[in-house]
Amino acid sequence: MQRKIFVLLGSIVLMLLVSSAALAGAVPASFESSPQMNAPQTLNTTFKINVVFVGYSAGDINLPAFQSQLPTTYDPIVRYPAFYGINLPVNIHGDYAFDYTFTPTSFNDAFFSYLTSIGKSKALTDYQAAYNDQVNKTLTVGPKSLYIDAPSTERWLMTHGRDDLGLDIANYTVFFVNWYGRSDFKFHVYTKTDVADPDTGYNFGKVRQTRKIIAWGGSYGRTWFYDLSAGPEAWTDNWNVDDADLDGNGVMEYRMPPVWEYGNTSGYRPFTDLSGDLGKVLRWVAIDLLFTSSPLYDPLASAPFPGKKKKVFVNMFEDDPSANGTKWIDMQLVHDNLGQFQRDYKWKVVLKDQQLTGGAKKAFRIFTGLNGSNDCWNAYGDPFAELFCYFDTNRNQYLPKIKPSGPYVGGIFAFNTTDNNLGNQFGLLGFADDNWVSGNPSYVFEFDSPGYRDLGYGFTTTTIHEFGHHIGMSHPHDGYDSTSATDFGPSDDLYFAWSGDESHTIMHYLDLADDFGWFDNDNMNRFLTGRYLTRANEIAAQMQSGETSREANALLEQAESRAIEARAAFQKMDYARAASEAKASFDQVWRAAKLAGLKVPMIEPLPQGGPRQGPKMVDPIRFPDN
Ligand SMILES: [Zn+2]
Repeated sequence: MQRKIFVLLGSIVLMLLVSSAALAGAVPASFESSPQMNAPQTLNTTFKINVVFVGYSAGDINLPAFQSQLPTTYDPIVRYPAFYGINLPVNIHGDYAFDYTFTPTSFNDAFFSYLTSIGKSKALTDYQAAYNDQVNKTLTVGPKSLYIDAPSTERWLMTHGRDDLGLDIANYTVFFVNWYGRSDFKFHVYTKTDVADPDTGYNFGKVRQTRKIIAWGGSYGRTWFYDLSAGPEAWTDNWNVDDADLDGNGVMEYRMPPVWEYGNTSGYRPFTDLSGDLGKVLRWVAIDLLFTSSPLYDPLASAPFPGKKKKVFVNMFEDDPSANGTKWIDMQLVHDNLGQFQRDYKWKVVLKDQQLTGGAKKAFRIFTGLNGSNDCWNAYGDPFAELFCYFDTNRNQYLPKIKPSGPYVGGIFAFNTTDNNLGNQFGLLGFADDNWVSGNPSYVFEFDSPGYRDLGYGFTTTTIHEFGHHIGMSHPHDGYDSTSATDFGPSDDLYFAWSGDESHTIMHYLDLADDFGWFDNDNMNRFLTGRYLTRANEIAAQMQSGETSREANALLEQAESRAIEARAAFQKMDYARAASEAKASFDQVWRAAKLAGLKVPMIEPLPQGGPRQGPKMVDPIRFPDN
């Protein structure tokens, strides 16, 4: 079993032309057709999840109620193709095993004493004050609030969890924190203030009231804490205990109120199930969105051919006479943060500056609603398709030609424009568009203006964020729940999914990190491992047994041993190594196929899917005025 890394599909027979100079040799045993197995081996694993209750007593938590909410399975999908009904195999299957800890008083004493020692007493946040104005509130928050550094808190819990509780913190760990009810309790919020926007210098963590939060993780390890005795806060709107329906669609936005509200039945919903609510947070936020997420796009759709570079090619369009867009983008940081994230590729970034003129200008005016002309968008029935269809049609005018077996070129179109020229798209920072037919990534479009810069936004963080989507990453506030086969976002009964943003990642909307965090790295490396091994299998399946050269066979042997390494590293949760080995395995198979005269693309072209069922994923500015 262990040796059966590549399993040939018996039904596919593709004759290979073997170079006359090459000596024919036997295909390694493990590549021979295996009729009883007709699909690549799935990467099976069990994720051990540490659930740690800090400051809760065993009597506070109804464990069966908590457990009734938990997920049973992890079967990630590629989300965008799935919107069109297309299933792309990731070939990862996970189970979850939960381990529960209630921390002893000594741990709690030390922890809350630490929070007190690093916290700074300040005025209530706007949202704590807004909570105090709620009719159905249980108590009055204040008069002061302690501002506590979130990453430091994460690190304390992680290291003391390991040293004092004996937790294996190589596993994913959630700390559910409750300070309320202790004599040393202080109203508090968490902050992260060490990152300013690279273009504008604006420090969202310091300045914004909406960035005083109640959860954090992923800065230092596989740890996330969630503290319902903090806040209340803006990001999940849990300060509001009066109003059920926040967006006016007639459905309640489900939120977890501050912990002291549990028992209160006079709010917009009865707050009676703390255990169930924490279970929901573990499942729909910590597990589905942070620890074990699903990719938005196939990461192989943006992979270069073996030995070739990955290029980020930014076309900057100048549409504001009073400012130059190149001053608001730091290409070195784009290069470094993407390069840190996917280390097995050589990255190159290119910035090309030009005036917005001609067809591009017309397309942009149509996109923003300032020009009502018919154009290529009519084929899609939506002016929002205009940028995609214009730049796709005229791709070679703006981007380097696609070379066979060449580098990957990711095209970004950046519009340095004015508030007025953004028209009805004012407030849109960017989006990593798909191809409108099958859910593969196409181009990134992004926008900046004087008004956006006043709010703190240049192009750099948007570029990294959008390219993060382009290469596969989802937000930490929307994703896929395997147990129920549900693609979801932060709305209605899952509104609390906004909590996922309170983690270290460029993919969140908080603007508290400009790089990828621990969870991103794990997830991306798992996706790459699954996809590279799957693709290697697909290609191996096209190589017929007994017809390959000795040289090609040697490559296949190497590929097999690298795949074995990948699987072993995957089991040890060394996902970076797993991804490297899986890529190396793929590279060798691809080279073997090339030697055998077989020209294979990086990915099989997807069929045209059905009408898109999911949302168009776009990135608006959340809380523009706070
Ligand atoms: Zn986004």
